[in-house]
Amino acid sequence: MTLNRRQFAAFASAGLVADRLFGQSSLTAQQVVERIQGELAKVGVNWREQTVDTFKGGDPNTPVSGIVTTVMSTLDVLRRAAAAGKNMVITHEPTYYNGQDDTSDMQQDELYLRKVKFIKDNGLVVWRFHDHWHAKKPDGMPVGVAKLLGWSQYQVADRERSYVIPEATLGAVAKHIKSSMGIKTMRVVGDPAAKISRVAISPGYSNLQAALRTLPNNDLFIVGEAREWEGVEYAFDAMTAGLSKGLIVLGHTIAEDPGMDEAADWLRGIVPEVPIEFIPAGEPFWTPA
Ligand SMILES: [Zn+2]
Repeated sequence: MTLNRRQFAAFASAGLVADRLFGQSSLTAQQVVERIQGELAKVGVNWREQTVDTFKGGDPNTPVSGIVTTVMSTLDVLRRAAAAGKNMVITHEPTYYNGQDDTSDMQQDELYLRKVKFIKDNGLVVWRFHDHWHAKKPDGMPVGVAKLLGWSQYQVADRERSYVIPEATLGAVAKHIKSSMGIKTMRVVGDPAAKISRVAISPGYSNLQAALRTLPNNDLFIVGEAREWEGVEYAFDAMTAGLSKGLIVLGHTIAEDPGMDEAADWLRGIVPEVPIEFIPAGEPFWTPA
């Protein structure tokens, strides 16, 4: 990397030039988190007392060799982070299979023990960035999906989840989404010939309340995941009754991957000392051709 004079002065004043020149940083994972907290406070996102955004593994005082952002700190992503020589993993979703990363039921579980050991043996630090990344305006998650779909210009002003796209059939829109996002197991509810224009995007988990709020006012609701006996059932009934047109279930991880790519971009602007890479968690599913 070549520094221009202004960047050099900025790094020098922060005592970072030596770090850069020797390819090492003394910045700790805890300091990265504090940097994030400071940046978010500047845009009105204050740190919550109750939050899942905490360290999930490793020592927060570890010097950071590089940062990986991902939607989910799967064993696969952890392996790829370690292989890339980046020891801080910033994950949007849990590491240990439940919202609070409560591991009390897993103390004898072979997989849990192996994952803990992998993190320890490789000197990784895992930190979750969920609540406060969503709280930032605009929310990077729907914005990331819209960008990938080429829909950014169709966003309804000040509503990062609402888009008015040029009218097309549900079948054509679904095909566009599948190919743009590289999804193998996307699922669609609704008539492929239905005409779609008003679209809402909610890439994470979507509960019944979201379906009640969103489906009646939009032609198409795009979600990461929904319970099949809640939002999906509501959507199916709404279509049977002729009250709504389409629901697309992308899959949770593939739906929020683009938003963590956005997070990597955002972090590069505030943590210039270390290399930052987005590693997609991808889809856990496949389906026979
Ligand atoms: Zn999310």
